[in-house]
Amino acid sequence: MIIKNKDLLCSKAIIGDWCNAFDKSTFNIMNPATNESIGTLPNMGEHETIKAIEIANEAFQMWKNQTVDFRSNILRSWAELIRENKDDLAVIMTMEQGKTIKESIGEIVYSASFLDWYAEEAQRPIGRMMPAHQTDQKILITHEPLGVGATITPWNFPALMVMREVAPALAAGCTVVIKPSELTPLTPLALVKLAIDAGLPLGVLSVITGDKKNTPKIGDVLTSHLKINKISFTGSTATGIMLAKKAMESVKKMSLELGGNAPFIVFDDADIDAALTGLISSKYRNSGQACVATNRVFIQKGIYNDFIVKFIKKVELLKVGNGLDADVDMGPLISIEASENMENYIKDSLLKGGELLTGGKRHKLGKSFFEPTVIANASDEMMPCQCEIFGPLTMIQKFDSEEEVIKLANNSIHGLAAYFYSNDRKRSWRVSEALKAGIIGENTVSFSTPRAPFGGYKQSGIGRNGGSEGLVEWQEVKYRCIGDLN
Ligand code: NAD
Repeated sequence: MIIKNKDLLCSKAIIGDWCNAFDKSTFNIMNPATNESIGTLPNMGEHETIKAIEIANEAFQMWKNQTVDFRSNILRSWAELIRENKDDLAVIMTMEQGKTIKESIGEIVYSASFLDWYAEEAQRPIGRMMPAHQTDQKILITHEPLGVGATITPWNFPALMVMREVAPALAAGCTVVIKPSELTPLTPLALVKLAIDAGLPLGVLSVITGDKKNTPKIGDVLTSHLKINKISFTGSTATGIMLAKKAMESVKKMSLELGGNAPFIVFDDADIDAALTGLISSKYRNSGQACVATNRVFIQKGIYNDFIVKFIKKVELLKVGNGLDADVDMGPLISIEASENMENYIKDSLLKGGELLTGGKRHKLGKSFFEPTVIANASDEMMPCQCEIFGPLTMIQKFDSEEEVIKLANNSIHGLAAYFYSNDRKRSWRVSEALKAGIIGENTVSFSTPRAPFGGYKQSGIGRNGGSEGLVEWQEVKYRCIGDLN
């Protein structure tokens, strides 16, 4: 597959305008399927980050004073350009991230829908007048743009993780410095190039690129600089906690979208075929590398044997390969280390009594490819049940009662997504209320929409992306008490 619009394959970062690192140093972006370099980008650090913040602060004074119509029109034009270039953007994403081309196209189109939605949402009235506590007063509550934000994003959804932050931020009148993952910066850069083509004034969005070694230097500036008003971070819980501690020293607003450990429960009364389809998708999409990916599967005893036989048949049909090949269901993992993690999880599970039903080792295609794997007889002590697997490994447990499975499902420090399949109306209410998670998939795994708030309970995060909640995350609330009016 070739990229038609070659300009989308960027070799510079954007600080106000396209630029190199001050010392001209670069780093390589690798294709996880071939382990070959697909390009180089500026290896930036603290000085470039400071400059990006200064430029974003200047741009903020202009951007916040534009009309909502002006901002919304740019968001809409940007969305159109993304859709026009979706095939090229998808090739870039698959080359740097590994996911299948079909998934990449889906992610690109879905990312653009955040621009459509926030272009409209920004026009809704926000704020209110309240009865005052004195007769000569009026009380007015208004929302204002928060200021300059920094968005730090992971590699698993290189487009979506940026766009679901940047769309509400721009709609609210904020400017943003983006720090994408060092593994997948090409997609965010291509997207921001299209924003500029759509008429976004320079400086409103900057993209700083840097390798793994330079990342903490960039992070230190972003979390401490007094002109940064908000950090929106998406990534692992450990990194999120570390950055939150630093950002708290200057009391920055924060939204944190962190790790998950989603339970997937199938009750005896469920539609088994629907549950099987949902499980395959929620577990093996993006090779299992999603924060909302199923992590632990609980099957009720009455349907257990039947379910397992049918599930294994489906898993064994999944075709592993280079994501650029059209008929592939699952691409490589992001790195060789990710494959090593999988091996450790499987070893630990089998030592603790797990039963390997299929897969279990690296795929013959190469070191970062892994076989879709299923382990039954799973238990809470096994490593992959305690932490986020982030790979194509399904851990299955049998359960007896509703009460028992709720306890098992909630036994995690995380609380992002939870899924269950049941056709019992009363049970549906009980279970959805009892699960401690920010997102509940009830007889479905496709809940993604820009209209709904996305975020987690417990150590899965703070704040929400999407929905009207996502816009408020980029606003300050001001209370005006106006006196002496009699
Ligand atoms: P990560 O925490 O390693 O990195 C995330 C981002 O933080 C990257 O851009 C990385 O370069 C940056 N980073 C790391 N150390 C930093 C530092 N000292 N200063 C500044 N930036 C720093 O996570 P990852 O491996 O890229 O992504 C996988 C994780 O992301 C998983 O835990 C997954 O669940 C989570 N995730 C969560 C959501 C959600 O919506 N809750 C969505 C996608 C991914």
